[in-house]
Amino acid sequence: MSLFESPFFQDAFSQLESAGATMNMDPNVLERLKYPKRALQVSVPVRLDDGTVKVFEGYRVQHNMTLGPGKGGVRFHPHVSLSETAALAMLMTFKCALVGLPLGGAKGGIKVDPNDLSRAELQALTRRYTTEISMMIGPDKDIPAPDIGTDGQTMAWMMDTYSQLGGYAVPGVVTGKPIAIGGSLGRAESTGKGVVFCINFAYEKLGKKVGTSTTVAIHGFGKVGMPAAQDLDAQGAKIVAISDVSGAIYNPKGLDIPACVEWVRSRKYLKDMPGAELITNEQLLELDVDVLIPAAIDGVVTKDNAHRVKAKMIAEGANGPLTHEAVDIISARGGLIIPDILCNAGGVIVSYFEWVQGLQMFFWDLETVNKKLHDIMKLAFDKVWECSQKYKVNMKQAAFIASLDRIQGAMRLRGMWP
Ligand code: GLU
Repeated sequence: MSLFESPFFQDAFSQLESAGATMNMDPNVLERLKYPKRALQVSVPVRLDDGTVKVFEGYRVQHNMTLGPGKGGVRFHPHVSLSETAALAMLMTFKCALVGLPLGGAKGGIKVDPNDLSRAELQALTRRYTTEISMMIGPDKDIPAPDIGTDGQTMAWMMDTYSQLGGYAVPGVVTGKPIAIGGSLGRAESTGKGVVFCINFAYEKLGKKVGTSTTVAIHGFGKVGMPAAQDLDAQGAKIVAISDVSGAIYNPKGLDIPACVEWVRSRKYLKDMPGAELITNEQLLELDVDVLIPAAIDGVVTKDNAHRVKAKMIAEGANGPLTHEAVDIISARGGLIIPDILCNAGGVIVSYFEWVQGLQMFFWDLETVNKKLHDIMKLAFDKVWECSQKYKVNMKQAAFIASLDRIQGAMRLRGMWP
């Protein structure tokens, strides 16, 4: 598959073009931003537990590094491709620029279902992948982090592999590490926390407050959806539906979130939860709720189902859960969309804190992390809100415009080599 082939890349591309046109962007800068800076494809051989060797496809793409080192997660998922990785790297460029981080955009991944591998196989896969991309990553070059299918353990193996190759510990090479080896307090729940901050900021702008009458549906009860559910539950909101790969559970009176968390943490599927009313993931997305949080994967709301999505507000917890066409359809009927590059930026913001703490070997308390996260997200939210008023565009377009404005300024100052 070519770099530009996937629907996801095409979608990111068309959002870039339409924001560029609205803000009257320099066509030369726009032309450059359509292409990643570098893309590496690697083959990752693993000796499986049965003695046979299997080769997996891996990638690392650096989209733009004008503002600083590349930054972005590593995804282990059967749908990973060069084109999808390039699209996600592009979104990371815009996300980091929007929230004012001194970082560029990158992404990596392996085409694999991690559930099919044993722990030993997964470790071998992660270590060999890290070795194969080692010339591209480093604390000053490009800093991977968790994404779908990867976690703190994956980052620990990546950090160890990179450190073994150099002969000394290099905690700054990845973020999202366990606390014991240089991770940051608050990183694990940061993306979900940021999503809830954004929902609260949006409610404030509308002159309302999240409370007991606020109904919420969450698509994906994982690294992003679970902490978001916990924070909204603590604010008194009624979480009426949550989902995982097995399906969705629904209770119009509100689900018992602590019980759901315990169930999922004990590695059980939601569909097996006693007494739960089951609905499909598709039905969850179409529930008539105040807030819908698509926090699982890209492309779940498209032109085919956008007309049936009734939520008043949609907070994009995942990367690209709504296609460009879906955003237009929902915005046209007055639905408010908090765009992914703003809404889920909490993860990369606390990754940035972790990187800074690792470089300085000086660690912050949780209160400091959460306060700084709140303040950065508030600044970015207000900027996007103002931009949407100024250009009379939806929040998605506004987020791209605000972000492109920052990158354009930096790219012009640095100029083009040679
Ligand atoms: N994978 C996350 C994202 O898409 C986090 C990236 C990071 O922390 O570098 O934003």
